[in-house]
Amino acid sequence: MATKIDYYESLEVSRTASGDELKKAFRKQAMRYHPDRNPGDDAAEQKFKEINEAYDVLKDEQKRAAYDQYGHAAFDGGMGGMGGGGGFGGFGAGGLGDIFDQMFGDMMGGRRGGGRRTGADVQVQVEISLTEAFSGVTKSVEVRTRVACESCHGSGSADAGGGSTTCATCHGAGKVRAQQGFFLVERPCPTCHGSGRTVRNPCKVCQGTGTQAKTETLQIEIPAGVEDGTRIRMAGRGEAGGEGVQPGDLYVHVSVLSHDIFQRDGANIYCRVPLRMTQAALGTEVEVPVIDGSRTRVRIPAGTQTGETFRLRGKGFSVLRSSARGDMYIQVSVETPHHLTKRQRELLEEFEKEAGDDHAKASPENSGFFAKVRDFFEGR
Ligand SMILES: [Zn+2]
Ligand SMILES: [Zn+2]
Repeated sequence: MATKIDYYESLEVSRTASGDELKKAFRKQAMRYHPDRNPGDDAAEQKFKEINEAYDVLKDEQKRAAYDQYGHAAFDGGMGGMGGGGGFGGFGAGGLGDIFDQMFGDMMGGRRGGGRRTGADVQVQVEISLTEAFSGVTKSVEVRTRVACESCHGSGSADAGGGSTTCATCHGAGKVRAQQGFFLVERPCPTCHGSGRTVRNPCKVCQGTGTQAKTETLQIEIPAGVEDGTRIRMAGRGEAGGEGVQPGDLYVHVSVLSHDIFQRDGANIYCRVPLRMTQAALGTEVEVPVIDGSRTRVRIPAGTQTGETFRLRGKGFSVLRSSARGDMYIQVSVETPHHLTKRQRELLEEFEKEAGDDHAKASPENSGFFAKVRDFFEGR
């Protein structure tokens, strides 16, 4: 086989090129070497194949990672060289994908647990509000998945009773050995995918796979108390795998949206309540909302300061798989009045005069601070 040109060099990009940079470079090169523009030019055709091959590998994160680590060896061995016979487009249709499925299948959930065969896992993202996270919720989510073929009911066979025969590739073993780059690996037979049997008369609808693509609407139950970033695994709710193969799992990634009033910290909830200066000074009772939709009253004693918190036991967040609830904390902030009317201003000036020179009683922190300031300057 001829020496292969480095994929990055083929596309004339750096090894750290981003996906966008790769795409741009590929387009530019493909335009330049396209056979339509270079009729009868073998060198241009060869170059066109190279850039297609390079882009096909580098645009795929997994393949790129393997290429970065092992170079072309990642794709040689057992394949007869993908650049050789297939011509451009050739490797897209088959070989490369299979190799990668086998190399990375374990990581990606395709074939887990020491060769246990399953359908692919399905990942979905669900966004819920904080109140939905509190009470739990059922969400409908559309997912692209694979289900059992409707025509053959998953058997993969066009014959009514099923009808399979010993696989000719692996003679029923379900496994084959192959050289993959530096590795000699035993992998599931590519013909029968490890079952050791092949369908005698494949179903026309699913080409014998027993599965077909479908967009399904799933009802996903999200339990009360779920946290932002939680991943819920629903065993057996992923893609169907065909005859004799377990379905994959469904993974639901939950994001909990932030709330206007409440902040959550585990099982506790924080709610910041701004008070008027007079409410804080004179004392009051305020009504505050609770995450469960109810209301409760909190007594604010006279002389409450900004930053003081009041705990409301058992009015916090739900705890996952438990009937317990955390606490709610009311954090008070005192709002200084502004845009005063003339009369309000007079009253406050009168209030200030009333104290005379002695503010120590009504405002001890203020007085204490300025006493320390005085000491600071005198002590120098
Ligand atoms: Zn079918
Ligand atoms: Zn086989």
